[in-house]
Amino acid sequence: TQIMSRGLPKQKPIDGVKQVIVVASGKGGVGKSTTAVNLALALSANDSSKAVGLLDVDVYGPSIPKMMNLKGDPELSQSNLMRPLLNYGIACMSMGFLIEETAPIVWRGLMVMSAIEKLLRQVDWGQLDYLVVDMPPGTGDVQLSVSQNIPISGAVIISTPQDIALMDARKGAEMFRKVHVPVLGLVQNMSVFQCPKCKHKTHIFGADGARRLARTLDLDILGDIPLHLNIREASDTGQPIVFSQPESDEARAYLRIATEVV
Ligand code: ADP
Repeated sequence: TQIMSRGLPKQKPIDGVKQVIVVASGKGGVGKSTTAVNLALALSANDSSKAVGLLDVDVYGPSIPKMMNLKGDPELSQSNLMRPLLNYGIACMSMGFLIEETAPIVWRGLMVMSAIEKLLRQVDWGQLDYLVVDMPPGTGDVQLSVSQNIPISGAVIISTPQDIALMDARKGAEMFRKVHVPVLGLVQNMSVFQCPKCKHKTHIFGADGARRLARTLDLDILGDIPLHLNIREASDTGQPIVFSQPESDEARAYLRIATEVV
């Protein structure tokens, strides 16, 4: 399905960027960043003619540098814009590049907003077909500000099948609707664990909570990602599964989701 960017009057596109896809979740730890990273890689793997970027606006807990095995100071372009860092063919920008890894992030309010402004407006992306944005969890000022400042083609919401995560995911979906960001659908993460030895499947966080929520909210389910050791290890070692094990079932799940969002 082709998605259209819808613009509110205040919104200004990011220079050179055709489509912005935000990845959001109601709460932390449900696999939002892992999905954002693998979705960016999958968009690029599915169509090598597309230029893909990844923007981490999870200012309190940026995880893109680690997951994409990147660190360092972005260089400045002639027009004083920050150049994204590149790995696995994906142009990446993160608050994590701009602050010391060990520095506590104690900014609040205005400082966070000025950081967001920098990440949205002072990056030289060149030409991108897709920019995947890793949002902070929840429905706070950052999410609202991003949604109001740039035209967003669509939001992908990640949830585990647990009630608590789903309740928060629902709030997320409702927030995007209020600010006229089309919700592309839900990704159900960690719904099933298959024992590598006996192949028995266990639904650790419940079986199909996200599917039920999707039905209630009239949203599509974009895909199901299993709880799998390889996904966690691949992320932790900075070799995301779609890059390092593209033939695996786990990677295929992300590759399928990528075909659903564009
Ligand atoms: P969030 O961005 O929602 O806080 P992360 O993407 O950082 O969540 O994921 C939290 C932890 O769970 C990370 O260690 C990540 O590697 C792991 N993880 C995420 N999705 C999966 C999965 N499907 N299988 C195994 N581990 C996962």
